[in-house]
Amino acid sequence: MALSGLDIYKLLAKTNCKACGFPTCLAFAMQLAQKKISLDRCPYVSDEARAILESAAQPPMKLVTIGTGDGALKVGNETVMFRHEQKFVNPAGIGFLLEDALPPRTIDEALAKIATLECERVGQRLRPDLIALRNASDDAGKFSALARAAAGRSALNLLLISDSIAALKSALETVRARRPLIMSCAARTPVAHFSLAKEEGLPVVVSGTSLEEVASLASQAKALGVDEMVIALAGGSIVSRIQDFTLAKRSALKRNLRALGYPFIAFTDSADPLLELEEAVSYVARYANIIIMKNYERDVVLPLLVVRQDIYADPQKPVQVEPRVYEIGKVDERSPVLVTTNFSITYFTVAGEVESSKVPSYIISCDAEGMSVLTAWAAEKFTAETITASLGKSGIADRVAHRRLIIPGYVAVLSGKLEELSGWQVSVGPREASGIPSLLKGWK
Ligand code: SF4
Repeated sequence: MALSGLDIYKLLAKTNCKACGFPTCLAFAMQLAQKKISLDRCPYVSDEARAILESAAQPPMKLVTIGTGDGALKVGNETVMFRHEQKFVNPAGIGFLLEDALPPRTIDEALAKIATLECERVGQRLRPDLIALRNASDDAGKFSALARAAAGRSALNLLLISDSIAALKSALETVRARRPLIMSCAARTPVAHFSLAKEEGLPVVVSGTSLEEVASLASQAKALGVDEMVIALAGGSIVSRIQDFTLAKRSALKRNLRALGYPFIAFTDSADPLLELEEAVSYVARYANIIIMKNYERDVVLPLLVVRQDIYADPQKPVQVEPRVYEIGKVDERSPVLVTTNFSITYFTVAGEVESSKVPSYIISCDAEGMSVLTAWAAEKFTAETITASLGKSGIADRVAHRRLIIPGYVAVLSGKLEELSGWQVSVGPREASGIPSLLKGWK
């Protein structure tokens, strides 16, 4: 839990010696509480005070990394209960369960299907993050073969689930370099799994049937030297799991309960695809950091990816596209020029309608700090002056032989001044983007 300036002040030497560059210890403490300076600037901090201050500076929920490189899944490091307080930091990982007892052909088909689960929304690429491999056969050879197939056919991160340390070690021979998360199938994680995680330097799932049990096991694993852990709650209903995730997150964030300060993993119970989607959405919202699903059909997974994108978007910073000129279709010097704001949803709605009109066009997205048209206009970020500046910066005048500009119907009021400032002839487009195709079809 973050310490206040006064809490920090009580731990300092209180001599006001100014060696830190601040006139008083209190001034130094206030700056430290706001994380504007480092503790090292005071040479008179006792070892005891340093230990307390450094511990308080740790994030209340541990960051856990599964995998390596750009595609690694990072979960945890969250600092708030609600996204409107600040934002959620690391999007929940979404994965799918595969068992080694399945026929090889079914495994092949599943991996092929999982590889197609991607889509683009408001300029962002959405994809799942991991595949969970369960040693249901109790055969180390089969488990190892499944790990080899998954690693060879998919770049997604891996979760290896087995009660057998020998089977896990055998699979690790193939996928160790992928830095998988390891887990036992048991309701209570055996100590042997913590020892393996420590030996291999891998993250491990700590399973228990209650928060008290996982807290005790996490402390035990920590004492053994395991650093990265993910918490799982075995048994219980969907509701009780969500209640426990909420209680655990609150305990970690608000009461600084380190033993529960780890990301949570949830496995879906529902067999019906739509019920499973509902369940997974509930876990994304409250507060699982990894969700493992049985189903990998597009119509179940893609909506879940979209929900995750929305929940993990920064509520104080709208999703934006780069302010510049965009070409839709094979444009030429006679193509129409439309202007809109750089709010992603606005831009992609306009772009979609222009595309469906089949009239090659230019779209200039003006820098309106990611606001939609009416909001930006009301905030004076989308005005005759800013549009004129965007026209100039875009270089569009060199790319078209005409000087006709289409503006959104909601800002028709800007027409006169915009014509005056830019020298372009302004046409007022429809208020809703759905009217764009009929407007462009009449373009000459
Ligand atoms: Fe206080 Fe340390 Fe700064 Fe001296 S150097 S004023 S003891 S905080």
